[in-house]
Amino acid sequence: MNFETVSSNAFADKVVLVTGAGAGIGKQAALSLAAHGATVILLGRTVAKLETTYDEIVAAGGAEPAIVPLDLKGATDKHYLDMATTIESTLGRLDAILHNAGELGVLGTIEQMDMTMFDEVMKVNVRAQISMTQALLPLLKQAEHGRIVFTSSSVGKKGRAFWNAYAMSKFATEGLMQILADELSNTKIRVNCINPGATQTGMRAKAYPAEDASTLKTPADLMPLYLYLLSDSADINGQSIDAQPK
Ligand code: NDP
Repeated sequence: MNFETVSSNAFADKVVLVTGAGAGIGKQAALSLAAHGATVILLGRTVAKLETTYDEIVAAGGAEPAIVPLDLKGATDKHYLDMATTIESTLGRLDAILHNAGELGVLGTIEQMDMTMFDEVMKVNVRAQISMTQALLPLLKQAEHGRIVFTSSSVGKKGRAFWNAYAMSKFATEGLMQILADELSNTKIRVNCINPGATQTGMRAKAYPAEDASTLKTPADLMPLYLYLLSDSADINGQSIDAQPK
């Protein structure tokens, strides 16, 4: 896909929510958005990691971020509604959401899959995103260029043995993105999905422990696409885009 590089102040005055902002791709997205002028809302489950991202943004001269400690596994619809109220009262606006947080679960056959694990992965990787989006849509609709980016995976496009709950959650994410994009096509909101591809993070290391991680792309390598799809420039809708096309 051809996409333009966003300008250094593309997110000036904008408020962007990033889930899973304490590590991996989400952390890098938060740092990159802040470097391009955004006020970033850092959501994640480990406060110490969110605080590190916060400190790095402030040290680099970025706008002061907001921290939302939330474990998506235990979060209820009310948590998301309360979060929307807080964002509106403290920051006054929301321009974009990057749904990035995700869990791998325990890989293995469908035959032996633990259904409690399945429920947890579906809750974190799918239900949380639906409920959060429902709560935040009224705010996003007020934005001039509302953007929602979901995070998929290659195994969410073509099934692969042993990827059980994780892969099914990513198929659901693709469907969620397509449906929402269609429903919002007459609004100013654009909804798309990124498949990062193999990237040097903790999740990738957990899935492929024997791999030489130095051969992989880093989260920073992927940022031009993330920034573009979250920016005003991205007037595309309902697309699932590979950050590392073959
Ligand atoms: P990491 O494991 O490095 O980071 C995941 C982030 O999500 C962490 O900040 C983590 O928080 C957060 N998170 C996980 N579970 C929860 C939860 N229950 N509540 C709140 N936050 C949570 O993963 P990646 O950066 O690799 O993955 C980012 C996205 O990219 C995921 O959706 C993943 O599925 C997708 N992806 C990644 C690929 C890769 O090769 N890396 C390939 C394809 C897709 P904490 O740090 O506190 O645990």
